[in-house]
Amino acid sequence: MLNIVIFGKPGSGKGTQASLVKDNYDLVHVSTGDVFRKNTSQGTELGKVAVQFMSKGELVPDEITISMLKEEIKSFMPCNGFIFDGFPRTILQAESLDDLLKSMELKIDLVVALDVDNKKLIERLLKRGKTSGRSDDQSEEKINKRLEEYDNKTKPLINFYKIQEKFISINGVGEFNEVTNRLISTIDSKI
Ligand code: AMP
Repeated sequence: MLNIVIFGKPGSGKGTQASLVKDNYDLVHVSTGDVFRKNTSQGTELGKVAVQFMSKGELVPDEITISMLKEEIKSFMPCNGFIFDGFPRTILQAESLDDLLKSMELKIDLVVALDVDNKKLIERLLKRGKTSGRSDDQSEEKINKRLEEYDNKTKPLINFYKIQEKFISINGVGEFNEVTNRLISTIDSKI
């Protein structure tokens, strides 16, 4: 099994790239943002809670996110592996993911970050907001809040995975397929 985390700030292209790379390795793409949005549009209890945080650009609390992620993983087992997009976003989430995978005799093999500077991210997100219908893409204030959440809660994961010698960062700027090729050759060189 191959388990990869695709890491990066909001707007770095994690979702797009994960959906392109997953077929190359026959992986299940798990996007916590997509699962929350699906629940919100279906009006589930989980969706009603999650949207209160998402609409402000804040992270959904760990307890809720972790239990949802565990259910997702279990629902796709057995499979060839996962590409996690948007999870983990806190140290507690990363530790919980390690524990869960360990209990199944699995592990995270690699964390690949897409490096994009903030100016470009804000441009990309505001542009995406025009067509995505995502309220959290539509104001610079919400985007800035998401970047602040990243700096405070998600950035410490870089060191968490560096210590485990699993972290690698690549340039996330360029044509979609250029970035995909960079990602695939990086993954191939590490597995
Ligand atoms: P994304 O689609 O990955 O940009 O996520 C959109 C929003 O969903 C985030 O701004 C958070 O509010 C929420 N979210 C997604 N993944 C997580 C996570 N791992 N932990 C907490 N909140 C999350």
